[in-house]
Amino acid sequence: MRAERHLDFEQRIDRGLAGVGSAEEESLLAAHVGECAACREYLSASRRAIAGLKGLSFEAGPGLNARVVEAILARAEQIEARRANVRRWVGMSVVAVVLTVLGSVVDLRVGHWAAGFFDLRPMEVRQGLLALWIVPSFGLLLLFPMLPLLAAKRYGKGRTI
Ligand SMILES: [Zn+2]
Repeated sequence: MRAERHLDFEQRIDRGLAGVGSAEEESLLAAHVGECAACREYLSASRRAIAGLKGLSFEAGPGLNARVVEAILARAEQIEARRANVRRWVGMSVVAVVLTVLGSVVDLRVGHWAAGFFDLRPMEVRQGLLALWIVPSFGLLLLFPMLPLLAAKRYGKGRTI
Protein backbone atom coordinates (compact mmCIF):
# COMPACT_ATOMS: atom_id res chain seq x y z
CA MET A 1 0.00 0.00 0.00
CA ARG A 2 2.95 2.29 0.58
CA ALA A 3 3.88 2.30 -3.13
CA GLU A 4 0.32 3.23 -4.16
CA ARG A 5 0.23 5.98 -1.60
CA HIS A 6 3.51 7.38 -2.96
CA LEU A 7 2.18 7.20 -6.50
CA ASP A 8 -0.81 9.21 -5.32
CA PHE A 9 1.51 11.83 -3.76
CA GLU A 10 3.71 11.88 -6.83
CA GLN A 11 0.66 12.81 -8.86
CA ARG A 12 -0.10 15.57 -6.32
CA ILE A 13 3.50 16.76 -6.66
CA ASP A 14 3.08 16.84 -10.46
CA ARG A 15 -0.15 18.83 -10.15
CA GLY A 16 1.48 21.17 -7.63
CA LEU A 17 4.46 21.82 -9.92
CA ALA A 18 2.11 22.32 -12.86
CA GLY A 19 0.31 24.92 -10.75
CA VAL A 20 -3.06 23.16 -10.88
CA GLY A 21 -3.08 21.72 -7.32
CA SER A 22 -5.55 23.12 -4.75
CA ALA A 23 -4.34 24.89 -1.57
CA GLU A 24 -5.62 21.96 0.48
CA GLU A 25 -3.61 19.55 -1.67
CA GLU A 26 -0.54 21.74 -1.31
CA SER A 27 -0.61 21.74 2.49
CA LEU A 28 -1.29 17.98 2.57
CA LEU A 29 1.64 17.50 0.20
CA ALA A 30 3.96 19.77 2.23
CA ALA A 31 3.17 17.77 5.38
CA HIS A 32 3.81 14.47 3.61
CA VAL A 33 7.03 15.58 1.90
CA GLY A 34 8.30 16.75 5.31
CA GLU A 35 8.20 13.20 6.65
CA CYS A 36 8.66 11.04 3.50
CA ALA A 37 12.16 10.92 2.04
CA ALA A 38 11.02 9.14 -1.17
CA CYS A 39 8.46 11.83 -2.04
CA ARG A 40 10.91 14.56 -1.05
CA GLU A 41 13.39 13.06 -3.52
CA TYR A 42 10.66 12.83 -6.20
CA LEU A 43 9.76 16.51 -5.65
CA SER A 44 13.41 17.55 -5.82
CA ALA A 45 14.05 15.48 -8.97
CA SER A 46 10.93 16.90 -10.63
CA ARG A 47 12.01 20.46 -9.80
CA ARG A 48 15.46 19.78 -11.27
CA ALA A 49 13.87 18.32 -14.43
CA ILE A 50 11.61 21.36 -14.84
CA ALA A 51 14.51 23.74 -14.22
CA GLY A 52 16.49 21.81 -16.83
CA LEU A 53 13.65 22.05 -19.37
CA LYS A 54 13.27 25.78 -18.74
CA GLY A 55 17.01 26.25 -19.23
CA LEU A 56 16.84 24.24 -22.44
CA SER A 57 13.87 26.16 -23.86
CA PHE A 58 15.60 29.44 -23.01
CA GLU A 59 18.77 28.25 -24.70
CA ALA A 60 16.86 27.02 -27.74
CA GLY A 61 15.00 30.34 -27.92
CA PRO A 62 16.52 33.38 -29.66
CA GLY A 63 19.78 31.96 -31.05
CA LEU A 64 18.39 28.77 -32.50
CA ASN A 65 15.23 30.42 -33.80
CA ALA A 66 17.30 33.06 -35.59
CA ARG A 67 19.48 30.38 -37.16
CA VAL A 68 16.43 28.34 -38.24
CA VAL A 69 14.72 31.41 -39.72
CA GLU A 70 17.99 32.40 -41.45
CA ALA A 71 18.36 28.91 -42.92
CA ILE A 72 14.76 28.86 -44.15
CA LEU A 73 15.10 32.32 -45.72
CA ALA A 74 18.38 31.35 -47.41
CA ARG A 75 16.75 28.21 -48.77
CA ALA A 76 13.76 30.18 -50.06
CA GLU A 77 16.08 32.70 -51.75
CA GLN A 78 18.07 29.86 -53.31
CA ILE A 79 14.91 28.27 -54.72
CA GLU A 80 13.64 31.64 -55.98
CA ALA A 81 17.01 32.41 -57.62
CA ARG A 82 16.99 29.03 -59.34
CA ARG A 83 13.47 29.67 -60.65
CA ALA A 84 14.53 33.09 -61.96
CA ASN A 85 17.55 31.51 -63.67
CA VAL A 86 15.41 28.81 -65.30
CA ARG A 87 13.00 31.49 -66.57
CA ARG A 88 15.94 33.48 -67.97
CA TRP A 89 17.43 30.43 -69.65
CA VAL A 90 14.08 29.46 -71.16
CA GLY A 91 13.79 33.01 -72.48
CA MET A 92 17.31 32.96 -73.97
CA SER A 93 16.74 29.52 -75.47
CA VAL A 94 13.66 30.87 -77.22
CA VAL A 95 15.74 33.80 -78.49
CA ALA A 96 18.40 31.35 -79.75
CA VAL A 97 15.74 29.29 -81.58
CA VAL A 98 14.27 32.45 -83.13
CA LEU A 99 17.73 33.63 -84.23
CA THR A 100 18.52 30.24 -85.77
CA VAL A 101 15.21 30.06 -87.64
CA LEU A 102 15.43 33.71 -88.66
CA GLY A 103 19.01 33.20 -89.84
CA SER A 104 17.97 30.27 -92.02
CA VAL A 105 15.04 32.23 -93.46
CA VAL A 106 17.28 35.21 -94.19
CA ASP A 107 19.77 32.85 -95.82
CA LEU A 108 17.12 31.30 -98.08
CA ARG A 109 14.95 34.31 -98.92
CA VAL A 110 17.28 37.29 -98.82
CA GLY A 111 20.51 35.61 -99.89
CA HIS A 112 20.08 36.45 -103.56
CA TRP A 113 18.83 39.98 -102.90
CA ALA A 114 21.77 40.67 -100.52
CA ALA A 115 24.18 39.22 -103.07
CA GLY A 116 22.95 41.70 -105.65
CA PHE A 117 22.87 44.63 -103.26
CA PHE A 118 26.36 44.14 -101.80
CA ASP A 119 27.73 42.91 -105.11
CA LEU A 120 28.67 39.53 -103.63
CA ARG A 121 28.21 36.05 -104.94
CA PRO A 122 25.31 34.16 -103.28
CA MET A 123 27.77 31.58 -101.93
CA GLU A 124 29.73 34.32 -100.11
CA VAL A 125 26.56 35.71 -98.54
CA ARG A 126 25.59 32.21 -97.49
CA GLN A 127 29.01 31.57 -95.94
CA GLY A 128 28.95 34.94 -94.16
CA LEU A 129 25.53 34.29 -92.71
CA LEU A 130 26.54 30.80 -91.71
CA ALA A 131 29.68 32.02 -89.90
CA LEU A 132 28.26 35.17 -88.27
CA TRP A 133 24.68 34.25 -87.56
CA ILE A 134 23.50 30.70 -87.92
CA VAL A 135 26.45 28.92 -86.28
CA PRO A 136 26.56 31.26 -83.23
CA SER A 137 22.76 31.05 -82.77
CA PHE A 138 22.85 27.30 -83.12
CA GLY A 139 25.67 27.20 -80.55
CA LEU A 140 23.51 29.19 -78.11
CA LEU A 141 20.63 26.86 -78.88
CA LEU A 142 22.74 23.86 -77.87
CA LEU A 143 24.36 25.61 -74.90
CA PHE A 144 21.39 27.11 -73.06
CA PRO A 145 19.45 23.95 -72.30
CA MET A 146 22.63 22.61 -70.65
CA LEU A 147 23.16 25.59 -68.32
CA PRO A 148 20.40 24.71 -65.80
CA LEU A 149 21.98 21.26 -65.42
CA LEU A 150 25.43 22.78 -64.76
CA ALA A 151 23.94 25.29 -62.32
CA ALA A 152 22.02 22.53 -60.52
CA LYS A 153 25.33 20.76 -59.96
CA ARG A 154 26.85 23.94 -58.51
CA TYR A 155 23.83 24.52 -56.22
CA GLY A 156 24.03 20.91 -55.10
CA LYS A 157 27.63 21.38 -53.92
CA GLY A 158 26.90 24.61 -52.07
CA ARG A 159 23.78 23.32 -50.34
CA THR A 160 23.88 23.54 -46.53
CA ILE A 161 20.49 22.10 -45.55
ZN1 LIG B 1 5.73 9.57 0.18
